Amino acid sequence: MNKRSSTIRKELALANLMDLLKIGGLSGHEAAVAGYVARSLRKAGAKKHWITCDNAHKKIGCGFEAGNLIVKFPGTHRAARLLFSAHLDTVPLCRGAVPIRRGHRIVAKGETALGGDNRAGVACLLTAAQALMQDDLPHPPLTFLFTVGEELGLAGARHVSARALGYPAMGFNFDGGNSGDIIVGAVGADRWEIEVFGLSAHAGVCPERGVSAALIAGEALSLMKKRSLWGKIKHQHGRGTSNIGIIRGGEATNQVLDRLYLKGESRSHDLKFLSTLTSRIEQCFVEAAHSVTNDQGKHGYIQFTLHRNYEPYRLDPTAPVVAYTASVMRALGFKPKMQISDGGLDSSCLTAKGIPTVTLGSGNHMPHHPGEYIAVKEYLDACNLALALAASGGKGLCRA
Ligand SMILES: [Zn+2]
Repeated sequence: MNKRSSTIRKELALANLMDLLKIGGLSGHEAAVAGYVARSLRKAGAKKHWITCDNAHKKIGCGFEAGNLIVKFPGTHRAARLLFSAHLDTVPLCRGAVPIRRGHRIVAKGETALGGDNRAGVACLLTAAQALMQDDLPHPPLTFLFTVGEELGLAGARHVSARALGYPAMGFNFDGGNSGDIIVGAVGADRWEIEVFGLSAHAGVCPERGVSAALIAGEALSLMKKRSLWGKIKHQHGRGTSNIGIIRGGEATNQVLDRLYLKGESRSHDLKFLSTLTSRIEQCFVEAAHSVTNDQGKHGYIQFTLHRNYEPYRLDPTAPVVAYTASVMRALGFKPKMQISDGGLDSSCLTAKGIPTVTLGSGNHMPHHPGEYIAVKEYLDACNLALALAASGGKGLCRA
């Protein structure tokens, strides 16, 4: 067999996957899974100095135990560097997951989600890297990036530096389902926190003296609904989504609620519309705070804190990374299909850092759901795709 058309070892690919699925690693607790990846690469021949861990965890804070794992392979020939990425963390629904094989799928044994998002992606990259070393395949300089905290708003990818990655010319992020999908764009997202301040009073003796934070929030939410700023949003000038995911507050029933905390998000593929959407939502809360008064005409107020999580991005369909991915896919017999994602992806941050990055499937389906599963054949296809993208070395597209 021609070395360039070398394929991965099925048994090793599946063993990698099952091992990785068994390791706990919710966002912020990725050290064990990063350790497994680093040890496996070392065993396959990666030099110690190729492997580093950045200080993203220090920048993120929140008790994160490890930074992004970065593994830089020198090229066997001069060419532009390629980046391969996958996130290490899983969502809380995967806590305690036990993976089992059921026919052509890998599923979780109990009520948990599986964690194939994104251990399937991590396993693909590990398998491809092992194959490169074990079969001594020619390849350009390669960077393998295993990010932390993706599920918490792309935390790790936001803090990685292009310099630490060796300034790759293009990137391939494995984090998805169908083999053949090339995700060339993703939504942008704002997360916001709203503190609603009312006025406390005895709820039985003089409720009219109070200003209820609950009523302010209620008014604000109904304004959002009335102005079509709720859920799926289709306006003349743009489309997006919004959601309030967390509401906290209150201590006693005999006290007019004077403080309420809400946390929500807005998303859009259009950066301008995203800003408009978020500021209109803020306006609903400001107006609601002014509209609720006590018997003396006093009203409450709100504090709105905006965190822009990630900006929307869209690659040109003719971009070299898209053309190269499609040509390698075709050579493997896949049918490439361009897609846009309504979820956040590490590729958003990587592209914003000057590394045009596509996101590719790794056979994982129904993420963040107890029915999550990995289709074995698609996963193995994705491992072979990762290997082919790395071993083909972007020939004809990447200049030395
Ligand atoms: Zn994911």
